[in-house]
Amino acid sequence: MKNKVVIVTGGASGIGEATAVLFAREGASVVVSDIQEEKGKKVVQQIVAAGGKASFFMADVSVAEENEALVNFAVKTYGKLDVAVNNAGIGGEGNKIADMSLEGWHKVISVNLDSLFYGMKYQIAAMKKNGAGSIVNISSILGSVGFLGSAAYVAAKHGALGITKTAALEYSSENIRINAVGPAFIDTPLLDRLDDELKQKLISMHPIGRFGKSEEVAEIILWLGSDKASFATGAYYPIDGGYLAN
Ligand code: NAD
Repeated sequence: MKNKVVIVTGGASGIGEATAVLFAREGASVVVSDIQEEKGKKVVQQIVAAGGKASFFMADVSVAEENEALVNFAVKTYGKLDVAVNNAGIGGEGNKIADMSLEGWHKVISVNLDSLFYGMKYQIAAMKKNGAGSIVNISSILGSVGFLGSAAYVAAKHGALGITKTAALEYSSENIRINAVGPAFIDTPLLDRLDDELKQKLISMHPIGRFGKSEEVAEIILWLGSDKASFATGAYYPIDGGYLAN
């Protein structure tokens, strides 16, 4: 990752934080982006204290212009863009479809799916100038199976696979690889709203017998972002402790 410039959205917490730290440890210059400024800046401090290179840029991924500003910041600060990890996401309202609010639906679709279009629109333009790039979109196991009470989340994560495949068809010949990662339940603040009983039930759905760790997801994101994954594009990589094998 030496001399590589990487954007990680949702980099202030959980999977995004672990990913930013790992890319920086491998030598990349990392733009940590999030709507949580204080937490995001702490991640940058942690990276810099360990001898890495990182900057924070505040951007709401559900706003097109803020995605454009984020890419411009990365290019202005570090000269180019090599890798983008579109990770920011929310769980959203936990109601069945008949009880789901219109606002709840739109919010999740906007943060988890519109963001991938906005992000890639500007990231790809910068990567084309650079002649190469790798984009990793964070979907979920819920990009390939349903989940009660999470229609918007599940629809957005399925949509993430569709836009990933299409983007790969459109840009792989221009040396820009685009893939999706599908974590199962990972022990991050995203799971805070689940009660203990539900957590135990969910754990039992992972043959490996536990939730995943952010660091375990970051490893596959690093691989996809790196030149080691030079033949990988347009694909979906579950990282799920066996969840989808059930
Ligand atoms: P997290 O809550 O720890 O981190 C998400 C980060 O995204 C937070 O720092 C948050 O501030 C940021 N964010 C939220 N809305 C944003 C916005 N509009 N603009 C910019 N940043 C925003 O959650 P996590 O578990 O690390 O989730 C990261 C990604 O992984 C999400 O896309 C999530 O859907 C996906 N995922 C998580 C799990 C899991 O079980 N934790 C499983 C599968 C997929």
